[in-house]
Amino acid sequence: MTHAHSPALPAAPIMPWDYLRLRRVAAGLTRVRLVDMIMLAGAKPYRACTKRPLTQAKVIAWLELVETPGTRIISRTHLDLLALVLPIDADVYVQLATESADRHPTLCGSCGVADDAVPVSDGRCRVCTAANRSRRLAA
Ligand SMILES: [Zn+2]
Repeated sequence: MTHAHSPALPAAPIMPWDYLRLRRVAAGLTRVRLVDMIMLAGAKPYRACTKRPLTQAKVIAWLELVETPGTRIISRTHLDLLALVLPIDADVYVQLATESADRHPTLCGSCGVADDAVPVSDGRCRVCTAANRSRRLAA
């Protein structure tokens, strides 16, 4: 008896807003915690570039905005500010934001890590595959 295998559906491309959310969640950070970190690490460089004060309300609104589908961070300064506190690769982000999906880097669909940092196969990196396996063994 043969079993018909349905072809795997192509995974939806990871977009810039997905990348930020995946990396934030993989780092175990809530948006509120991230705001605190940006306020600590980013206030000085932010003020140096805009001369306007960085407020918590402004940062919360901005974080919600940049994880909203369709939104792309255009300012490299803002992207670099986020990269100070979030484990993202600014160049990967720029590629996701500016290139067509067929030219996107290969990313883990679970944590968003780039293939050149941790090898990704079947849509998941080695770390996420191992974590999934140990969860299954523990169950
Ligand atoms: Zn992963």
